[in-house]
Amino acid sequence: MLVLVINSGSSSLKYQVRDVAAGTVLTEGLIEKIGMGNGGGGDGEIEGPRDHAEALELVDAAIHQELGGLELGAVGHRVVHGGERFAEPVLIDNEITRAIERLNPLAPLHNPANVLGIRAITRKWPDMPQVAVFDTAFHRTLPEHAWRYAVPDELYTNHGIRRYGFHGTSHEYVARRSAALLDLPPEEFDGVIAHLGNGASVTAIRGGQSVDTSMGFTPLEGLVMGTRSGDLDPSILVFLGRAGWTPEDIDSMLNRESGLKGLAGNNDMRTVVEAAESGDAKAAMALAVASYRLAKYIGGYHVAVGGAKALVFTAGIGENSSQFRALVADRLGALGIELDAGLNAKRSREPRVISAPSSAIPVLVVPTDEERAIAEATAAVVGSNR
Ligand code: ADP
Repeated sequence: MLVLVINSGSSSLKYQVRDVAAGTVLTEGLIEKIGMGNGGGGDGEIEGPRDHAEALELVDAAIHQELGGLELGAVGHRVVHGGERFAEPVLIDNEITRAIERLNPLAPLHNPANVLGIRAITRKWPDMPQVAVFDTAFHRTLPEHAWRYAVPDELYTNHGIRRYGFHGTSHEYVARRSAALLDLPPEEFDGVIAHLGNGASVTAIRGGQSVDTSMGFTPLEGLVMGTRSGDLDPSILVFLGRAGWTPEDIDSMLNRESGLKGLAGNNDMRTVVEAAESGDAKAAMALAVASYRLAKYIGGYHVAVGGAKALVFTAGIGENSSQFRALVADRLGALGIELDAGLNAKRSREPRVISAPSSAIPVLVVPTDEERAIAEATAAVVGSNR
């Protein structure tokens, strides 16, 4: 089956056409600047589709030009927030679309954009099966003691304030591949997975299920990220509010100006590592803060899973930055974790072990592929609904 995978943002639309059986990408692309007007502003160069429907026409034209008259079997959507309702990918109908829309308050930037993508497809290809794959779904197995915040119950019951977790599609896919690399059935995998991209999260997996994860109510909680702060004392926000910062000021500072960018002036791990290596003290400090925070989480999650049997690195930084992996592993001596410097330095696109034989547990690098996971889930849901 050929599946069109759609990741619809408020002003962008990322797509891939995948052959699910072969596991290959037939074509992919990114439409940007949706709804930004054409020439209306001071910058006459801005030109983009008027809305998501127009963006979809561009996608359709591009796919046709690349691949000719192929027959798509289904569309799979990356949907950021599935709330408490969605624990699995689902076949989309009007009721499901409205349910995703009702979750808008929990993901005000993402879910409305996802719904625009879904509605554009529904209008263009009314008979096309569409599947929603949720970023939160894999974390629906978190026990209550892991998803509760210690605040008055009314915040949860009236506002849905609890921990949801994100990056679930990636964590689930990487857990499955890690189990395969270790010759285990997926339901016997106990481990800790660190997904380290621009956004970063770490998940505790017990018996193949997520039992804790570092992102919470929003993707802001947890690790030090490219531009996000991760954990901090919530009183800081109150302090800033009293000092005159607006909610928008605080939101923007924590999501766009913090993390590596806030500490080292740059959000790109490669640049920060290079700066640290050439003696930049701020860059070295940023790496120390980020690796220390992650090591603390890994130690905590070792406890959460009742003794991890593997530590796994994935996503842009996890897959590529041998330096950052080494900084983290250096802090994990208490767990008996030891990298093999040669294996860690080797570059490869394949899942692999990078720990020394003497390491207490294996350390793996397992490339993630969220689009592949979405395409496979989409084909499976469509198949089981035939
Ligand atoms: P996103 O969350 O946007 O999908 P990615 O998973 O692509 O992010 O990860 C982006 C991060 O990966 C950036 O910080 C980038 O510096 C880092 N990265 C990518 N390639 C390398 C590399 N070869 N060495 C070190 N870091 C890398």
